[in-house]
Amino acid sequence: MQGTVTRGIATVLERRELSNRCYVLRLERSTIGRFEPGQYIVIGPQNSTDRREYSIYSTPDDPFLEVLIKEVPEGAVSRALHAVEPGDSVAVEGPLGFFTIAPEHRGTRDFLFIATGTGIAPFHCFVFAYPELNYRILHGVRYADERHEHHLYKPERYTACLTGEALPESHHGRVTQYLAQLSVAPETLCYLCGNCDMIFEAFDILQRHGVDPQNLHAEVYY
Ligand SMILES: Cc1cc2nc3c(=O)[nH]c(=O)nc-3n(C[C@H](O)[C@H](O)[C@H](O)COP(=O)(O)OP(=O)(O)OC[C@H]3O[C@@H](n4cnc5c(N)ncnc54)[C@H](O)[C@@H]3O)c2cc1C
Repeated sequence: MQGTVTRGIATVLERRELSNRCYVLRLERSTIGRFEPGQYIVIGPQNSTDRREYSIYSTPDDPFLEVLIKEVPEGAVSRALHAVEPGDSVAVEGPLGFFTIAPEHRGTRDFLFIATGTGIAPFHCFVFAYPELNYRILHGVRYADERHEHHLYKPERYTACLTGEALPESHHGRVTQYLAQLSVAPETLCYLCGNCDMIFEAFDILQRHGVDPQNLHAEVYY
């Protein structure tokens, strides 16, 4: 069951830098109540009316709320939030969204999670909220340092697809190229999150693999 949507002010507890432009913002939990893994919140600097959506990275059992953000050059909110410090306040609203996993599917179905960049955020929440999930993550990024906290996933469940450099344990190329040569069982539940070009292309590839469109779920970031 999804929680009630609330709006308020939350104190920043921590800002964790993951790479040059990506960071995790940890907020106090009290403003946003119960949420379902896969949902997002809307956040903005307290002194502005600008707000943006961010998937919840932490799990419902954590005593804090975390979001994983990439600072977009010229971006209004992602840049402003990168400048906040512990003790500062931000405006928050949520939880929102329907990019969630039905309870009856959690221990019974196979999942394929496909992300670009910070699109891995809801998958991080799924994996650590639902330890019973049988999942595989394909993560498309440019460079190795954008494989945000990849060491948290079992290596056999996480494959990075790097377009900007080659690494022995990763695919060198786009995530959709990797997907095209993968064997995907038609009954797999596929969740796609991030850039809309990747999502449109992956939808086509998965349908060519025989995956029923009703097994495809997407959260488009931009
Ligand atoms: C449901 C939902 C959940 C989201 N969750 C996350 C999340 O967990 N983490 C996260 O980092 N973002 C997430 N986003 C994207 C986020 O809401 C903002 O769009 C993003 O942070 C840019 O906002 P901004 O104000 O900094 O840039 P803006 O001033 O709004 O935009 C500047 C330009 O950057 C482009 N842009 C937006 N996002 C990106 C990007 N990632 N890379 C390159 N260019 C981009 C825009 O199209 C625009 O042209 C989510 C979006 C949605 C709809």
